[in-house]
Order: sequence, then C-alpha cells, then structure tokens
Amino acid sequence: METLESALALLLEHAAPVRETEEIPLGDALGRIAAEDVASPIAVPPFDRSPLDGYCLHSEDIAGASREHPAVLTVIGEACAGCGEVFAVERGQALRVMTGAPVPAGCDCVIRQEDTDEGMEQVRMYASVPHNRNICWTGEDVPLGAVMMHRGDTITCAHIGVLSSLGVARVRVYRRVRVALLSTGDELLQPGESLSFGKIYDANRAAITAHLQELGVRAHVLGSAKDEPQAVAQALAEAAKDADVLVTTGGVSVGKKDIMHKVLPLMGAERLFWQVAMKPGSPLLCGVYEGKLLICVSGNPFAALACFEVFAAPVLRKMAGKAAYENRRLRTTLRGEFGKKSPGRRLIRAYFDGVQARLIGNNHSSGSLSTVIGCNCLVDIPAGSDALCDGDEVEIILL
Ligand code: AMP
Ligand code: MG
Repeated sequence: METLESALALLLEHAAPVRETEEIPLGDALGRIAAEDVASPIAVPPFDRSPLDGYCLHSEDIAGASREHPAVLTVIGEACAGCGEVFAVERGQALRVMTGAPVPAGCDCVIRQEDTDEGMEQVRMYASVPHNRNICWTGEDVPLGAVMMHRGDTITCAHIGVLSSLGVARVRVYRRVRVALLSTGDELLQPGESLSFGKIYDANRAAITAHLQELGVRAHVLGSAKDEPQAVAQALAEAAKDADVLVTTGGVSVGKKDIMHKVLPLMGAERLFWQVAMKPGSPLLCGVYEGKLLICVSGNPFAALACFEVFAAPVLRKMAGKAAYENRRLRTTLRGEFGKKSPGRRLIRAYFDGVQARLIGNNHSSGSLSTVIGCNCLVDIPAGSDALCDGDEVEIILL
C-alpha cells in the first residue's frame, strides 16, 4: 500500500508537461500558461506625457513665481490626450495641456492649472516648478524590449492589461491538458432522468467536470458506464487517442462489481499502484496506458473529490506547465471537535478563514457530498491520532 506522498510522487513522475503550443487572442488567455517570453515591442508611455491638466513650459521661465509676483507667459495652443499635433514651445511661451497629452521636446516641466489663472492667450503662473517635474517620461512604465511575461507564467488579468498596453493582440500558450472522464456504476442515472428504486444520480461526473473546468483542463466527458469491464476498457482505450489523462470513478474496491481491476489488464494498461493509506479514497487505483496516466478513484463522492484534489489536480497542474503544481499545505488551529480516533491517516472537510480551520458538519463519511459545500481545505490527520479538540494545531491542505 502506498502513502499519500509515495502515490503522488509516482503519479507526478509520469506527468510530463504538455509541450504543444497554440496562439490565441489575448482576451482568451486568462488562466492559460505562457509558452514564450513576451518582450515589449514599444516603450510605454510611447511619448513624454503630462500626468495632469495644466501648462507645459520651460521651468526657468517661472523660477521664483508666486501669487504676489506671477510670471506671465504667452499661450501658443492647447493639446489634449490623443491629439497628434506637434508643438514647439519657445522660451516665454506655454502650451495648455490636458492629462495624457504629449509634452513637446524642450519643455521640462508641467505646472498644474490650479497654480495659474487658466488664461487662454496670456497665462499668469503663481508658482515655480522644478526642472523635470510633472512629466511621465517615455518608457517610464515599460521600457522598449522589457520582458513583461515569462514562459511558464499563469496568465492573469494583470498580464492581460499590461500586454494590451503594449499593443499585443495574440499570445502563444501551451495547449490545454485533455482529460477523458468516465463515471462507472450500474446504479447511475443522470440528472433529468427519472429516479427509480435502487438508482442514484451521478454526482461525480458533474463535480469532476467542474473541477476540470476550474483547472483550465479540456474535459472529454464520456458519460457514465455500466459495470461491464469489456465495454469500459473499450471506451477508455478509444478516449485515450485524444486524451492526456484518463480519470474514472467507481469500481476500485474489493466487491464483485469493482470492475476496474479487470479493466486495466483488458486494456493492456500497466498498473502503477492500488490502495493508498488514507481515508477517504483508499482504494485509489492508478495505471499507465500508452504513456497516459489512468487515475481511477472510488465512486464515493467525497472520496472521489478528495482523491481528485489530492492526486489528480497536482498532476494536471504540472502537465499544464504550472511551476507551482503541488497542493498548498499549512499549519493552523482547529475550530470544532473531531470525536473519533484516527488509527489510519484521515482527511476531513473544513473551512479555512485565513486564521483557523473550522470543521464543517458532522457527517465525515466518504459517501456524503453535501458537506463539501463551503469546504475549502482538508485537515490532514496523521495515523495514530487521538480525537481532535478545539484549538489543536493541525495541518491542512488548501483546495
Ligand atoms: P464504488 O466505488 O463503485 O464501489 O461506489 C461506492 C459508492 O459510491 C456506492 O454507494 C455507489 O453507489 C456510489 N457512487 C458510485 N459512483 C457514483 C457517482 N458517480 N455519483 C454518486 N455516487 C456514486
Ligand atoms: Mg460501483
């Protein structure tokens, strides 16, 4: 039996980052992984510009100016943001400028309009301004050629804003990881179908599909399959042609209907391991088929989700090209009590508020999904632990 760590290490060894890239519109790139460095093709701002509404001029012309002794300059015109007109400002002259307007060569400062009489032909300046003050210089934000996005970066809203300011319209990213997902079980119905005795609705298919979406993975949802090894083996082998990873739920335990043990040999898949020393999800079964990982989690909905988060999510993040692919763990204080001893390692649901982890509900069984709502972390209870008390220090895995 593997430990959580040894099982994850085995999976990560087989998780090769996707190398194929594609070029996409910048607007579609949120959350994607940059496949190349992006150096700025321009300087930003592309010209010296005024950061305020006022006048640009030669600072020496208003040296010593005050309310009592204003300097009087001739206004040669007006420049607004976006106006393409080129002005030349001589000594003794000023140009009326609005925020964002280009500052002509030669002018070495801008005076804010509040320190003037806002005159249109002649302007009285009531203050002096030092040399080089109140000008946003060319390239002050982004120098020409500066690398603003690096290969491997997860593209954020900020990257999209900055790249837009550089005039970049398309970016090269790694293609999405592709996952084929199959839920197995004779008992499964899909929402919308009418419930009959003995059947249940398939929770795993929708929940894991949503998690795949969250991870930016392209999900190929194969639907749900009956507990028929041959049919499942065929469906998975077919799906593997266009998938990087295969994920299944159900049929990995020790019962008569736990078909996945037969499916792997039928497909010709190599078994990596079966069983991990943890609750929920201990019967995790993993293999490799034609170089592609096959991750088969228990059908119990909480077990399926916990195993997906703990094992599949880091694998998929690594394959996507993310540098930080491991689950984030931290030590914190527990709020609430967990009455049972834990002879084996156990993961239980909790909500971490940034300071402490509060237990959610009191149904910790692996078959209960309802208490996953509001859960943003798992408390990782080591094997051999006593019941947990309010205030105990615990380690959590952030989801
Ligand atoms: P299994 O892993 O197939 O032994 O299933 C364990 C338990 O989880 C059984 O009670 C199943 O009925 C239930 N189960 C299996 N698959 C799903 C699913 N996709 N959605 C909800 N419950 C499931
Ligand atoms: Mg089953």
